[in-house]
Amino acid sequence: MYHDPSYHFQKSDNSSFRQRRSPPRMYRFVPAHYVCPVEDLLNLPELNSRNIDFYIGDIDDTSVENSRKMFDFLATYGLIDNERVCPCGGQLSISRDKSAKHDLMEWRCNDCRKRGTVTKVSVRKGSFFQNMNLPIRKLFHIAAEWIENPGNSLESVAQSWGVNKNTVSELHERFRDLTHQWFERVAKDNVDFVLGGRGAIVEIDETSLFKAKHNRGRLLLKPTQWVFGMLERGTGKAYHIFT
Ligand SMILES: [Zn+2]
Repeated sequence: MYHDPSYHFQKSDNSSFRQRRSPPRMYRFVPAHYVCPVEDLLNLPELNSRNIDFYIGDIDDTSVENSRKMFDFLATYGLIDNERVCPCGGQLSISRDKSAKHDLMEWRCNDCRKRGTVTKVSVRKGSFFQNMNLPIRKLFHIAAEWIENPGNSLESVAQSWGVNKNTVSELHERFRDLTHQWFERVAKDNVDFVLGGRGAIVEIDETSLFKAKHNRGRLLLKPTQWVFGMLERGTGKAYHIFT
């Protein structure tokens, strides 16, 4: 029988064989070159409550794999960190952990572990989602609903998503703030950005969770990197930006 020495060399050096014994640490959600500016969200089809599951996973799927799918998406667009460094200087790795409520994964430091301490960091740290005690998928859906049906009562939103009414109220408040910040930023950076001029009524576009209509505006990057598109309308529920 023919014996090919290179075959054995490849086999022993093949990472897929090593993986079975000891999975390689994941130091990032997606390859570094996948990460793109948040503005690239504009290149996606318009996100709405009907297609958002395609990007962030099925709302009813509580598996770790589904969680990973969502974080890969968020990391790709800079909505969460794709990699992190521990205060000790070590590179944090992504660890599956069912005790990480809602998220099912978190950052951990192997260097700290070798020194006998446990360093865990939430994958939400530093993001819009930090300190929000609800699944991120729900937050997206509540945002989409707020944009598409701004007249829905707090009670009905809370009931349909199984969250506390105060939580919904806080979220809506933050969405309003963000939208206002977004608008001010766009108006400041674009002197010719006029949504109807003085006294205009500005409404959240029902289909533009992320997509800025007319592609005229810059997107809100800080403090939350949350992005909303807006659309001028003559009537409807609205914000008086200029009074
Ligand atoms: Zn560390």
